[in-house]
Amino acid sequence: MYDYEATFKAARAALKAEKRYRVFTEIERDVTRFPHATWHGPNGLKRDVVVWCSNDYLGMGRHERVVSAMVETARTTSVGAGGTRNISGNSHAVIELEQELAELHGKEAALVFSSGYVANQTAISTIAQLLPECMIFSDSDNHNSMIDGVRRAGRARAVFRHNDIGHLEELLAAAPKDRPKLIVFESVYSMDGDVAPIHAFCDLAEKYGALTYIDEVHAVGMYGDHGAGYAEEVGAMDRLDIIQGTLAKGFGCFGGYIAGSEAMIDAVRSHAQGFIFTTALPPPVAAAAAAAIRHLRGSTAEREAQRRQVTRVKSALQAAGIPVLDNPTHIVPVMVGDAALAKLASDRLLDRHGIYVQPINYPTVPRGTERLRVTPTPFHNDALVDQLVTALGEVWEALDLPRDRTTVDPVHRGASITVFTPAGG
Ligand SMILES: *Cc1c(COP(=O)(O)O)cnc(C)c1O
Repeated sequence: MYDYEATFKAARAALKAEKRYRVFTEIERDVTRFPHATWHGPNGLKRDVVVWCSNDYLGMGRHERVVSAMVETARTTSVGAGGTRNISGNSHAVIELEQELAELHGKEAALVFSSGYVANQTAISTIAQLLPECMIFSDSDNHNSMIDGVRRAGRARAVFRHNDIGHLEELLAAAPKDRPKLIVFESVYSMDGDVAPIHAFCDLAEKYGALTYIDEVHAVGMYGDHGAGYAEEVGAMDRLDIIQGTLAKGFGCFGGYIAGSEAMIDAVRSHAQGFIFTTALPPPVAAAAAAAIRHLRGSTAEREAQRRQVTRVKSALQAAGIPVLDNPTHIVPVMVGDAALAKLASDRLLDRHGIYVQPINYPTVPRGTERLRVTPTPFHNDALVDQLVTALGEVWEALDLPRDRTTVDPVHRGASITVFTPAGG
């Protein structure tokens, strides 16, 4: 008889042998002391730690208005949606959230999904399937959820080298003129913190008659005068056809969405299986997310404070000779270059210094570029920054980690670029 357990154990052992078995750190966030949290270690150990790797980039998950909106909506409506959007789950709070999102991005309409992951997976595949013979052009560094959406579409697809305008143009020029085309990319790339040439991609989309789909997950709340994302920052929002985002990072809550034309949104609403056949977002979550968006549309204090602390962290690390990948955003990739060492460095930070930074290993980043991904928030004050830099200095010394370059060049996936056309187009 088949030994199922042995197979599962072998799968795990293989990951461990490659030093990429994931160990999750158990933490209990403290709403009054962000970014402090309680770490629940082995044998019932509990300890106060400072979280330096949260995607709650602006601390909106603890904001009084956001918490109140969630609690009050739970008290007045209910905790759950009670059904799919089609059957009893089309909450007033979700409709209001979609209006808020459409306004934020200057689009006719928006549609909310269970998560940013589901939004990409479902929206990309549905949009490409709605367009007969659609060809998809996808950046080689795109997030797993986008890759999955592209694959699920079952359409012809081409992967262009990361942020490479020339390569994208080459691929577009080689495609038949009259076929519908969809260019899929991110604005801020979460691991290297680099940004897409948005205007140049929009120029190409206009020239070759393509639609543009941008993932603004790591930019919404943080860039642009109203926190609408990097496209707002560079004045390109109205040039993009579909803007995708999350409510779970800069907005500190949960859920994902797309924004675009009324007809496109209505078509996705009517055809997307990952939207139709699942329970709607809980009204308290929708209300909290709307409160976070509303606040960040009007307040620049959080964005300014975040930028200030990011600059402080980057220059202090550089002065200390700790290698940071150079980029123009709020993401601070501290480069280690080895999976086992990245894990050791992370463990030492936690054990000795009460600092929690998760190691980032393959396949999230290419092998040889393993790192600690530091994300300063407005709440990481100067004292915490000093403490982080001192701690990293001690860890670099103790583990004899690379110091040779204070800035390192990014390495991109893209070695195996493929143009693949499945039968039927
Ligand atoms: C986190 C992430 C997502 C998924 O968003 P969730 O709301 O967390 O599901 C999508 N795209 C990118 C680039 C991400 O980093």
